[in-house]
Amino acid sequence: MADIIQLLPDHVANQIAAGEVVQRPASVVKELLENAIDAGSDVVKLIIKDGGKALIQVIDNGIGMSTTDARLSFERHATSKITCAEDLFNLSTKGFRGEALASIAAIAHVELLTKTETDEIGVQLKIEGSKIINQDPIVTPKGTSLCVKNLFFNIPARRNFLKSNQVEFRHITDEFHRVALAHPTIEFHFYNNGSEIFNLPKSNYRQRIVNIFGGKTNEKLVPVIEETQVLKISGFITKPEFAKKSRGEQFFFVNNRFIKSPYLHHAVVSAFEGLIRSDNHPGYFLYLDVDPASIDINIHPTKTEIKFDDEHTLYALLRSAIKHALGQFNVVPALDFEQDQNLETPYNYKSKIAEVPRVTVNPTFNPFADDTPKATRVPIYEKQSAKGWENMFVGLESKVGKERDFSSVSFESETITGSIFNNEPEVDHVSTTLQLKRKYIITTIKSGMVIIDQSRAHQRVLYENFLKNITVKEAVSQQLLFPISLSFSKSDIAIINEIKDSLLTLGFAFDTVEDDSIEISGVPIMVPESEVGMVLDQLIADYQLDAPEDSFSQSDIVSKTLCKTLAVKTGEQLDSESQLALVNDLFACKEYKISPFNKPIYITMTGDDIDKKFF
Ligand code: ADP
Ligand code: MG
Repeated sequence: MADIIQLLPDHVANQIAAGEVVQRPASVVKELLENAIDAGSDVVKLIIKDGGKALIQVIDNGIGMSTTDARLSFERHATSKITCAEDLFNLSTKGFRGEALASIAAIAHVELLTKTETDEIGVQLKIEGSKIINQDPIVTPKGTSLCVKNLFFNIPARRNFLKSNQVEFRHITDEFHRVALAHPTIEFHFYNNGSEIFNLPKSNYRQRIVNIFGGKTNEKLVPVIEETQVLKISGFITKPEFAKKSRGEQFFFVNNRFIKSPYLHHAVVSAFEGLIRSDNHPGYFLYLDVDPASIDINIHPTKTEIKFDDEHTLYALLRSAIKHALGQFNVVPALDFEQDQNLETPYNYKSKIAEVPRVTVNPTFNPFADDTPKATRVPIYEKQSAKGWENMFVGLESKVGKERDFSSVSFESETITGSIFNNEPEVDHVSTTLQLKRKYIITTIKSGMVIIDQSRAHQRVLYENFLKNITVKEAVSQQLLFPISLSFSKSDIAIINEIKDSLLTLGFAFDTVEDDSIEISGVPIMVPESEVGMVLDQLIADYQLDAPEDSFSQSDIVSKTLCKTLAVKTGEQLDSESQLALVNDLFACKEYKISPFNKPIYITMTGDDIDKKFF
């Protein structure tokens, strides 16, 4: 058989490598910013258009390249940063693989302008799909400008795979944050579609954080400092009362490189234990300095995990440093714990002396006499008039006002028959309910018993109601007497702007939306004023995790978040009227069997099932 193996041509090999290095525009941004930093720049500009799909440009004032270096820099494994394998264990630069430029040039239109300090004149290179198509001497300041246009122009499948401009922009912003936070002594400018969205002067770590995440951040930060032989920790955590629903602001930097470490994250979270609610996340900006020889960053170019020699020690040191910081800055006693009301001793009982239990005997007690008082018996079945359903809602309305009137969910051109089993009128008879463990609502139907998860049921009811509001656009808004002003980071504001339409149709009203704050003048009738901040926080967090492409799924996410946040929770006691209303509302839903998060809402037990248990 003839030989069939051959070496791939460089441009093909580069394209394959590019598949790993460049996943999306944000990967290019990361590589270019890191190169600018490695070149010793102290002013770096990032310019993007259309989420980086049309243009990504990084301009720096670093050391620049000679003409020969400029050409070489686009070769694979061409790097000035290491010369031998040992260097890998003593890295002080971001890059070292010599892959980035070669990969980027394989899949985009690239234009490089560069000049060194000593050269009189610089060089301009144009490369398309790994081919140099133009090289000219050019007058340009010291430093480098690298311009990447039409990313993935020659790989349509990859180009189509990219998300919307807004989503890609958000990924780019995340990368930008990471690099800018790690290098506060470098001045950064970031322009998006022609407008400057970040202008970060040279500063210290604290100011850099504040410049990125907004003025209000300053008061939230608690410094963390610890220095031992193996590790230096510095940076900030946010005070527990500012813990957020979103995991947004959590940053670890090791030797000024952003990393992800679930293990170290756990150390931080455990230091906060007991100080914040379990579904909230602490913010942190932590800078660890370790001996470069004790870490291994020789990992995949796009990954951000690194290996530490002695993770356990790091864990313990980090945890204690944070505990110490929380204690030292008197954060702990100032806390306002959220307590379970039911665990608290009511004030009027506090001074009472405990009574000594006494045994009393009823001498006339006859266990065989049927003298159980009527009132203590749970009525097994109580017939409800045909108007029972409506009555329940009327009662509910007058009790808790309109906000709990989730009964009127109806979808145009559809009549809803509320029944568990199709065509069975069983549910019409629901009139008695019982709450079990503050979690389930139990009710009887003709064939037996239904056990309903109260939280999931309410989620379903709210969800359908929100979706309906969004689609028919007639939500009732509750005007606030005093507008609420909330501060957010710029990227959070960008998300709010993205979902603004959905929020408006739900009944939110915004007075102003600024760079780092919003003023809210109206809220949906179902959202308590005190929870607006939390609800928006949660919306941003969920949206970040799961940014949708179209407006349908956008309203879906918004509705899901709202129903999750606002639904009755496990542990909440419901009076019998609310229980009843909830059950009936549930069975009036379009889909009453599964929660919006695909969990079963109730289980049934028929008489037969119960009989079997008695065998
Ligand atoms: P790496 O950063 O891993 O060395 P790259 O492909 O990113 O690989 O870059 C290749 C080389 O090009 C670098 O080692 C560096 O010498 C040079 N280079 C890239 N960007 C710049 C820049 N902005 N300023 C000066 N030199 C640069
Ligand atoms: Mg590089």
